[in-house]
Amino acid sequence: MVHIERQKPVFRFAPSPNGFLHLGHALSALINQQMALDAQGRLLLRIEDIDQTRCRPEFEHEIFSDLAWIGFAWEEPVRRQSEHFDDYHAALRRLEDQGLIYPAFLTRGEVKARVHAAEAAGKPWPRDPDGAPLYPPDDRDRSPAERQRLLQSGLRHALRLDMQKALALIGTPLAWTETGDGEKGEIQVNAAAWGDVILSRSDAPSSYHLSVVVDDAAQGVTHVVRGLDLFHATSVHRLLQHLLDLPQPLYHHHRLILGPDGRKLSKSQGSTGIAALRASGHSPADIRDLLGL
Ligand code: GLU
Repeated sequence: MVHIERQKPVFRFAPSPNGFLHLGHALSALINQQMALDAQGRLLLRIEDIDQTRCRPEFEHEIFSDLAWIGFAWEEPVRRQSEHFDDYHAALRRLEDQGLIYPAFLTRGEVKARVHAAEAAGKPWPRDPDGAPLYPPDDRDRSPAERQRLLQSGLRHALRLDMQKALALIGTPLAWTETGDGEKGEIQVNAAAWGDVILSRSDAPSSYHLSVVVDDAAQGVTHVVRGLDLFHATSVHRLLQHLLDLPQPLYHHHRLILGPDGRKLSKSQGSTGIAALRASGHSPADIRDLLGL
């Protein structure tokens, strides 16, 4: 008799080792675990360490220890982004072959100065859903000869997606299926709101947006479960999945744990750190209580 095994749903928790885990991470890990259990799926762990200037092995070590302590049980091997730069490079080449990438030479300081000058003159500068100013059009509008000249001069540069070109290329509107704690159902993609997103930096070979879609596909992730702070970024992810011909997972953006100031927790907030709570005598059950699980 031939057994046809149904493809199991695949979930993943994907922390960045640039600080210690806090209650918000614990909530995300435990919701992933519960949903994987309910769906009889697999549960993966991915270490998002593309930014080698901020990620450190001691943070990664502490992440493993804190996750094990709260009772999060992941499948081995762990995927580490720093071991897959070739995959991101191949995705970049593919976008480049479609003529969708351009070298961006303006420094952060130059962009900031431009925004300040415009705003001081009473002209509002467009911002992305996270509040960051959109990248000015200078580099996108350069002639091929000028671009070549700047590249040959050895000027440091990032690679950005030409959003207008990408949207014109796909033509059709995109959507994703959302089951989370905010807006639910078929969500219309609004990638234009993000402008010419960065895909690689001079000091990091890939950006968060590019590596997350490449990794989710490489790991066969079917359910992306993460905080509502990444809800709007999903527009960029769906666009990249479409351009790179990658499968689209289902999305579930869950509630966030807010600090006493009403803002999202940051990695420097010691009192909500899992390690600090552990050290002050809390048990894993206390953590679940604190999270309202
Ligand atoms: N690495 C991201 C973070 O720590 C999560 C990315 C994701 O789940 O898509 O916020």
